[in-house]
Amino acid sequence: MQLAPYACHPDHSRGRRYQEPAPQERNAFQRDRDRIIHCNAFRLLEYKTQVFINHEGDLFRTRLTHSIEVAQIARALARNLQLHEDLIEAIALAHDLGHTPFGHAGQEALNACMQQWAPDAGGFEHNYQSLRVVDKLEERYAQFNGLNLCFETREGILKHCSKKNAQRLGAVGQRFLNNTRPSLEAQITNLADEIAYNNHDIDDGVRSGLITLEQLLEVEIFAQHYEAACARIPELPQVETKRQVAEVVRAMINTLVVDLTETTRARLAEYRPQNVDEVREMPVLAAFSTEVRAQANELKRFLHANLYRHYQVLRMSQKAQRIVRELFEAFIDEPRLLSPEYRCEDPMAQARAISDYIAGMTDRYAIREHRALYEM
Ligand code: MG
Repeated sequence: MQLAPYACHPDHSRGRRYQEPAPQERNAFQRDRDRIIHCNAFRLLEYKTQVFINHEGDLFRTRLTHSIEVAQIARALARNLQLHEDLIEAIALAHDLGHTPFGHAGQEALNACMQQWAPDAGGFEHNYQSLRVVDKLEERYAQFNGLNLCFETREGILKHCSKKNAQRLGAVGQRFLNNTRPSLEAQITNLADEIAYNNHDIDDGVRSGLITLEQLLEVEIFAQHYEAACARIPELPQVETKRQVAEVVRAMINTLVVDLTETTRARLAEYRPQNVDEVREMPVLAAFSTEVRAQANELKRFLHANLYRHYQVLRMSQKAQRIVRELFEAFIDEPRLLSPEYRCEDPMAQARAISDYIAGMTDRYAIREHRALYEM
């Protein structure tokens, strides 16, 4: 693999929090990717909601299949741009490790609980939580907590962070305080995440019957690709809807990957970063063209209005929020309901321990635990 000068290089990593001997026969970022795949939180992604609650259907995306799709798209981009593919894969596979059960609904409920019961603790943020998982919560090594990943992997996982939480994090939080950028591997994975969810949510949305092909044809980027697909495949309008949607989705993913590659290449040619430290000091280098950015934003707005806020999704979200809130309330009112490893003397630490416990739950575990606490 020929690495560009602006790529992250495992031999020039800013290092791990705890010193360890260098790996044999694999590079430091490969080791990070391997550690992520072997950790507990990674396996739990299989039973966590992306948009649809896990038990609503076996074909819908879960956090796990979403993360794999992000990794696949990000790796293609890594090759196009000569970035470090192992690092990109590690960031992609770890980026959602901190997600609560029930997707964004669960996250909002948990954040509201933390704000109410531990107002100085910094709330609940899923990116920050993903970093907590790999820095603190995994218990797999005799001499340290967490997975002891490289700085570059941790930097990529921490996509967003409030200033308050950034101050607690040392070097990896610094860029949120002095407003600098992360590596290109991190920037690209972030956009690969967006390509993945915009497209798979169309697919899942149509499969669920909550959005229709007719509605999607009102969205410019979809309509454009639909017309192009019809020109390529004249019988397209006569085949089953799922095949029509799949043809459009695959073409859109391709367009987005090509556009992101070309726009980023042009920006790299303009700014000419000589190493990753220069990348961090420059404006954002990974980007879509203005036109595609506007189209992607329109698609996002469409999905918000018609899928994420569809009344059937909202009914589920409401239930999910109630479960998370009531779990939190039961434990904060009576911490002795928690198994001893989650009990703390300090009230703020107690709230955080409860938040960690709930955030780690899968959808079905949260439902079971709620039943165990509230039903006879
Ligand atoms: Mg994601």
